[in-house]
Amino acid sequence: MINKLIMTPGPTQVTENVRMARSLPSTNPDLDPAFYDFYKETCEKLSTQMHTTNPFYILSGEGILGLEAACASLTEPGDKVLVISNGIFGFGFADFVAMYGGLPTIYEDSLVNEIDIDKLAAYLKSNHDFKYATIVHCDTPSGVLNDISKICPLLKSYGILTVVDAVASMFGHDINIEESQLDLICGATQKALSAPVGLTVIGVSPDAIYAMENRKTPIASFYCNLLNFKDYYRNKWFPYSMPASDINGLAVALDNVFQDTNSIMRHKKIAKATRKTLVRCGLELHLESGYADTVSVFNVPSITTGEDILERMRVKHNILIAGSFGYLDGKVIRLGHMGENCTYDNMEKTLTALGETLNYLGVSLNEKLEVAFKDFFTRS
Ligand SMILES: *Cc1c(COP(=O)(O)O)cnc(C)c1O
Repeated sequence: MINKLIMTPGPTQVTENVRMARSLPSTNPDLDPAFYDFYKETCEKLSTQMHTTNPFYILSGEGILGLEAACASLTEPGDKVLVISNGIFGFGFADFVAMYGGLPTIYEDSLVNEIDIDKLAAYLKSNHDFKYATIVHCDTPSGVLNDISKICPLLKSYGILTVVDAVASMFGHDINIEESQLDLICGATQKALSAPVGLTVIGVSPDAIYAMENRKTPIASFYCNLLNFKDYYRNKWFPYSMPASDINGLAVALDNVFQDTNSIMRHKKIAKATRKTLVRCGLELHLESGYADTVSVFNVPSITTGEDILERMRVKHNILIAGSFGYLDGKVIRLGHMGENCTYDNMEKTLTALGETLNYLGVSLNEKLEVAFKDFFTRS
C-alpha cells in the first residue's frame, strides 16, 4: 500500500505524530496504575473538548460498538424507543434497539434535508411516550447534518433520553454536550480525529447512568455494558485489557485537535468552498439542506458511473474518494474533508484530480474545479 491520499469520509488520513505514538513502548494496562491515570486524562480531554463534565469512556472497538453499547445499555425488553431517521445510519439504530428487545418507532423525515424541528415538535406533542430517542448528527452516506442542539433539548423537555451518533461530526463540528443536553454521544477515532480505526469514544450523562442503574433487567451484554466502565478508576479495573497503543495514538490525536484552534472554522470554510465549487462548475449537490462540514456529496452525472469516477481517481491519481451504499449505492460521490483531510492543499489536489477524471469520462464542467475552489476559499 503506497501513500494514497485518503479523501474519504472516514477512515481518514492518519497524522504522522499519531502513527508514531502508536509505536511507543507499552505497559500492562490492567496492572499499571499509571495507565489508569493516562486513560482518565485522555477521557477528560474528550469531555473538555465537548464542553462537559460528563465522563467519557474509551472502548476497544470500531465506532459501531458505541452505537450498539448505547442501545444495549439503555434498552430493556418492551422499552419504547424513537428512532429519528433521515439517513442510513439513522434507520440502522432500529436494528440495535430491536436486538435488545426494545420497540422502535421510526420517525422518518426527508432524506435530502435536515430533520425539520417544527415538524418533529408537532409530532412529539401527541407522541412522547419513549424511554429514549436516537439521532445521527452527520449521517455520512448522504452527508446530512441534523441540528442536535435543537433536537436533543426538545426531546429532553419530554423526559426522553438521547443517543447521538456523532461519529462523523465530532471534531469537525463544535459539539456542546451540556448546552445541547446530550445523554449518550458516540464518536470514533477514524474520522475527524485522523487516527486509525479501532476505538469508540462515548460520553455518558448522569441521566443515562441513572437509567442504566435503575433497570429492572440486567444489561444483556458484557462487552457493550457501559456500567462496566463506570467505576474503572476507583476499582482500578477494566472489563477487558485496554489497547494501550491505540489509546497512545488517540491521546496525541486529541492534543493535535487542542492545538489546532482554527480547526472547526477550517472545516466550515473548506466545506462551504467545496459545495460552492461543485455547484458553480455544474455538478449537483445531493442534499437540499443540512450540509455537514465534514463531507460533501454530489450526484453522479448521468453520462458516467460512480464506479468509473472512483476507479480513475484511484488508479490514475492515487486518491481514494467514496461512493455510498444502501439506496445511494452508485448514485453519489462523497468527498471527505474531515480532520487531516481538511486542508486547502489536500482539497485542491483532490479537486484537480476530480476535474481531470470527470473530463476524461465526458462530463463537461463550466470551469476548472481547482480554480473555482481557490477563488471561493480565498474570498471567504
Ligand atoms: C463511520 C460512521 C460510523 C462507524 O461505522 P463504520 O462505517 O463501520 O466506520 C457510525 N456512524 C456514522 C454516522 C459514521 O459516519
